[in-house]
Amino acid sequence: MKIFKLLSADQPNNPLTRSIREGYPSLAVAFVFTMVSNLLYMALPLYTFQIYGRVMSSGSIPTLLVITFGVLATFAVSGVIDHYRSKVLINFGVVMDQRVSGHVFSALFDGVVRGNPAIRSQALRDLDSFRQMLTGPTFGVVFDLPWMPIFMIVLWIIDPLVGMVTLLGAVVLVILTLAQDRVTRPMLGEANDAALRSYSFTDAALRNSEVVRAMGMVEPLGGRWAVFRQVTMDRSAEASTLASAISNVSKFWRQGIQVLIIAVGAYLVVKGTIHMALLFANMILAARALQPIDRLVGSWDGMLQGTRAFDRLMLMFGDYKPAKPVTGLPRATGRLSVEAVNFVPPGGQRFVLQGVNFKIEPGEMLGIIGPSGAGKSTLSRLMMGIWQPSNGSIRLDGADVFTWDRQDFGRNVGYLPQDTELFAGTIRDNIARFQPGVDDSHVITAAQLAGVHDLILRLPKGYDTDLGESAHVLSAGQRQRIGLARAVMGQPRFVVLDEPNASLDSEGEDALMSTLDALKASGVTIVVVSHKPNLFRAADKILVLREGRMELFGPRDQVMARFTQPAAVQAIGAAR
Ligand code: ATP
Repeated sequence: MKIFKLLSADQPNNPLTRSIREGYPSLAVAFVFTMVSNLLYMALPLYTFQIYGRVMSSGSIPTLLVITFGVLATFAVSGVIDHYRSKVLINFGVVMDQRVSGHVFSALFDGVVRGNPAIRSQALRDLDSFRQMLTGPTFGVVFDLPWMPIFMIVLWIIDPLVGMVTLLGAVVLVILTLAQDRVTRPMLGEANDAALRSYSFTDAALRNSEVVRAMGMVEPLGGRWAVFRQVTMDRSAEASTLASAISNVSKFWRQGIQVLIIAVGAYLVVKGTIHMALLFANMILAARALQPIDRLVGSWDGMLQGTRAFDRLMLMFGDYKPAKPVTGLPRATGRLSVEAVNFVPPGGQRFVLQGVNFKIEPGEMLGIIGPSGAGKSTLSRLMMGIWQPSNGSIRLDGADVFTWDRQDFGRNVGYLPQDTELFAGTIRDNIARFQPGVDDSHVITAAQLAGVHDLILRLPKGYDTDLGESAHVLSAGQRQRIGLARAVMGQPRFVVLDEPNASLDSEGEDALMSTLDALKASGVTIVVVSHKPNLFRAADKILVLREGRMELFGPRDQVMARFTQPAAVQAIGAAR
């Protein structure tokens, strides 16, 4: 069965399977508790046997009292054991979550930046579904299943005919459960996929709610969303109708088996094969033997959702490599070499960069210019180690930027992407890159270096202005300037700014120029992507990219002289 396959899965780099394996001792304890609880359950058939066999015939009230208290005490113990079994399983789920959730978060980022289509923010919800399956009543059934044959053997010992009827009952119930699974699984799968698509569609629409509202796109988008919704509803309804039909057959069969067992028992009593007292013991034991299948059918949906969530998590962890402790590299000086880089974006078909090859020395500033779609932002991402070149490599102080430990690399670099997003938290937290224990003075130094200190002080709560949901909303220019402060936080040695002046007014541009001068004066290597050559005033070298190739590269004045020739300008204008 799938659940056993899933519990025994093993992949060396997979934190999920590893944490399940580490939880085997807890599962073993839960198994032993289940065993004791099931053994104690035998007290009930024994009790009825004693009532009919001993109390009724002898009329002894003291015997009745003693065995009644005895069986009540046994059930109390069994209740305590069941409680601890649940506790062990809940604890197993909590520990697994603690060990895995951090990795899910990292794998999510890895997967998204590498364009893995299987990755959605759904992954964190998947971990919840999987944990709920392991810690909820669904999983408890799995522990009860091995007890079915034991109850059946006891019935067989009482009389093989009773055992056979119960076995037949169980086999038919299992067949019906499997049939239900076979019929409904594909439908539920389609319903689930459509539901996931509708969630991500809604997420994207909500993120762009202003565009949607401004251009009256609510209705058409609602129509598109309704298509996904309809598939979910149709498939779920079909699956539920079929499941309900099959489960009604199962119910009829279960009730029929109970009647058959009484009938067979009565027949055996009449024939004198078994004692009258065993009739009720038979009923109780048979009901208990079939109970796990009953519960299995009831929790099938939860089980399916949990296993599907597990499959998606496994897919996400497929090529995930957890960060390993690495030897810390010395602080970078800022020597950058881009060595014969070709690049096809994740999921792309064609080369976006080809034969890109250049060097920048520590403290130099490189300006990158070129028409839209030339590959400037792509090159910036590659220099930041976000993506890995398809061929060639990019090295900072000789070390590959892609394989460099991310935290260590982050301390050496600053990056301002084209669309600056800030995170829910205060402005201080954002500038401090959410690093714990950062000194206020360092945050303020970064803000001053980015020329944004005064702007922040004018905000309602200054550095403590909260940018969380429904809190203060910054303009695009303000975001970009605070993003610049985040990029220069912690005195990085290598800074990449992708169109840092895209949303700036003239005051912002002046502040940016001063920041570039200050960074250059302190020996930071700078790469600036821009459509506006005035930003390259302090640049040492210029790279002109066109259609992913280096059209020009060299000292600023030489390149700019050629670049600003009318023909080149026209060509670039036409391509934009
Ligand atoms: P702009 O000046 O408009 O910002 P750019 O020079 O920065 O343009 P890039 O964003 O680097 O251009 O894009 C270069 C090419 O790579 C474009 O043709 C784009 O469609 C393609 N591209 C970028 N990212 C991806 C991706 N994730 N998957 C597929 N293609 C991509």
